[in-house]
Parts: sequence; structure tokens; C-alpha cells
Amino acid sequence: MRKLFSDKTRDKRQKQNTVHLNKMELTKKLEILADAAKYDASCASSGAAKKDSRGSKGVGSTGGAGICHSYTPDGRCVSLLKVLMTNACLYDCHYCINRRSSNVQRARFTPEEVVKITLDFYKRNYIEGLFLSSGIIRSADYTMELVIDVARRLREEHHFRGYIHLKTIPEASPALIQLAGRYADRISINIELPTQESLATLAPEKNLQRTQEAMGHIRDKIEESHTEKRKSDAPKPAPFATGQSTQMIIGADDSTDLVILKKADTLYNGFKLRRVYYSGFSPIPEPSIVLPLKSPPLVREHRLYQADWLLRYYHFSVEEITTAAEPNLDLDLDPKLSWALRNRASFPIDINVAPRELLLRIPGIGVRNVERIIAARRYTQLRLADLLILRLQMKKIMPFIITTDHHPLRLGLDDDNLRARFLPPPKQLELNFGNPAPEPSDILSARSGEI
Ligand code: SF4
Repeated sequence: MRKLFSDKTRDKRQKQNTVHLNKMELTKKLEILADAAKYDASCASSGAAKKDSRGSKGVGSTGGAGICHSYTPDGRCVSLLKVLMTNACLYDCHYCINRRSSNVQRARFTPEEVVKITLDFYKRNYIEGLFLSSGIIRSADYTMELVIDVARRLREEHHFRGYIHLKTIPEASPALIQLAGRYADRISINIELPTQESLATLAPEKNLQRTQEAMGHIRDKIEESHTEKRKSDAPKPAPFATGQSTQMIIGADDSTDLVILKKADTLYNGFKLRRVYYSGFSPIPEPSIVLPLKSPPLVREHRLYQADWLLRYYHFSVEEITTAAEPNLDLDLDPKLSWALRNRASFPIDINVAPRELLLRIPGIGVRNVERIIAARRYTQLRLADLLILRLQMKKIMPFIITTDHHPLRLGLDDDNLRARFLPPPKQLELNFGNPAPEPSDILSARSGEI
């Protein structure tokens, strides 16, 4: 086939393009590359509207230039600079604004520039760390080398002690991923979609098996590093990231919640992931025709996070939360309450004698309050008034519990209308084609992990 451009012309154009991207003003690059990074759910607050207190009441400001929040392994909330090295990418994942065929303005940082911005922001106390990802340029290894170069310069040349989260590329060589783990506190690889079939349709260059192999490699290195640290007589091992996480996009394909949660469960148990993030697909400018026109309801993402908590902290199995007959989560009720309503024969549970694992099954009582109940009942028989002190949602828990002064009639549990009592109040229909948002009380309970 005749080539449209000679190799020489193509190389010259690529060079010109690179020079152009590199010459762009730093603040402009930051604007583009922080905005392009906002779709990664692991630091969800970037991309929020700019706010500041100049000339008006209030304290503080949000710059909007990619500063977001994340949680360290010890539970601290830290502000991170969340940016991409570049939003140019060789791959063509249909759901991604940075894909090869997208018409967005491109920009590219040099490693020196990312280091400079990170240190400037860090010294001004804007941030406590960096979250760095990238579109794939030239090759996975080349891109990974650039990302690692930033972390290496920060750690070795500037002795940066802040938090670093690096997004790694599954196609990069294991040695490079290992090197990334040496400089980062956390590394992550986005699995994006739960099945190979969905990837083949929406992200044809990605491969589930390859991603899982890379995750397995990271898991082994993390475990190796922990084992070495425990040996008191061994020489200090080379540092390695303390955890890995991933993200799944929800609603871009037709995977059910059962499929998504099964994949998350495999990742937690098989690959020891710290977190799986669920990111509702949001339509992007100039979307591909294979994508749905609408994003999924926001509340679906929220229910998945609640179900995720049940898997990790409440000893539920995926098959209890979703079933083959009902493969999607109930959007009206939280998944623990839904399970209780489907399994009424397991209730009521006596707060004063039930073992921990049964207390965890009561809707509306979270892990923290289960511990408080167990501690308190060593000294006293608990009554409803004691539960009120714990600020439990009494309306939610009363049909499911027994206390010394409360014994719900079996009839109440068998009542066909019990589910209806927990449904959110009906709302006036609005001419609004957006997504229903979760109830504020739901959001608070999910954030505290009290489901
Ligand atoms: S590889 Fe990443 S940046 Fe590139 S198109 Fe796919 S999702 Fe977007």
C-alpha cells in the first residue's frame, strides 16, 4: 500500500507536535491535564467548581486546578495534585475523553514540569501529595518511564516525603511496574470493565488477563515487602507501595451489578486490592456511537459502594447481596436492608445475646456501633433508650431487633407492606432528565460505613 506520508515527514510532524505541546504555557497545560484527570474516581472531588473567599464571607478556596482528596492507608484525608502527564493517547477506549479519536485539545507535561508544580504546590501547602496518571504515548514502557521519572526525581533529588499515587499501565514491563512501586505509596491499574467481552467492545487494546497478571505481580511484591519488613534480623528491604487499587466504569456496558460485584470480590480476595472504585460512566463530548446516550443513575454507583462495604466489612457474599434472579441492586433501598427484607426468617435478632456476625446483619447498625453494643452489654442489658444514645436509625432497626423492652411481633416482620415503610417518600415529578441523586442521609451513612 502506498504510504500517505514518508517516515521522514511523519517523524518531522511528530517532532513539531511534541515541540508545540511542550511549549504550551504551564498554567494552560495544568488546566487541560488536571481537567482530563478528573474522570478517575479514586480522587473524586477534583473538577469541582472554583470557589474562593476573596471579597466575600467564608474561609478557604478551591483552585480547581486538579487538587483533590484521597485517603492514606492510616485513614488520613490528604489533598492531592491530580494530573495526567499527557492527555494524548495511542489507545482508543470508547468511554475515554483522551482516546486517540477524540477531538480534545492535547497537552503534555515534561517530568521536570510535573516535579516543579508538585513542589511549588507542596511548599505553599496546597497539597500533601501527587496523583499521577497518563495517556499512553509511543509505548506503555516509554510512558511508564516518564511517570516513574517524576516520582524518582521527587523522592531522590528533592527528598519529597509527601504521598505519591501512580497509575500504572498493565502492558508495561513488570520491572517498570516494580520500580513504580518503589517510589509510590500506592499504585493502581484500572481494570475499567468487569469482563473481557465488554473490553473487546469498548476498549479493544485492553486485555483483562494482562491487567490481572500485572495486579498479581504487584500483590506479590507488596507481600514480599511486608514479609521482609517483619523479619527483624533481615537488612531493610527496598520500599514498595503499601497497597493497590483499581477502578471500574459503571453503565458504559450492560454488565449487571452481580457481574461487577463478583469481579470486585475476586480482586479483593485474589489480588488483595485495597479499594475498588466504581465510577458511573458520564457521557463525554463527541461520544462514540457504541456508548449509551445516558449515564446510569447516580444512586447505582452509591449502592455499589454500599454493597462493596458489605463484602469487605460485614462478611456478606456476593450471592447474598445480588442473586441470579435479581442481578441488580435495589436502587430504592440499601443492599443490607434489601437482604434483610428477603431473609426475614433470620430476624428478629436479640441485641443482648447475638454474636458479632449476626449483629452486623441488622440493617442500620454499622461496624462501629456493633463494637459499642458488644462493649456495653458486658455491663448492662440494653434497652431501646440505650440504642438511641448510639444515634441509631430507630425506624430502620426496630422491626429487626429484640431488646429487654422491645420485642417486635412476628406479624410485623411478615407484613407485606414492610418494604413500603422504608421506601423514600414519593417525589413530585420534575421535567428533569438528569439522574436521581442519593438521599443525603444515605450518603452520610455510606461515608461512615454504617449501613
Ligand atoms: S488507555 Fe487510558 S487514557 Fe488511553 S484511551 Fe484508554 S482509558 Fe483513555
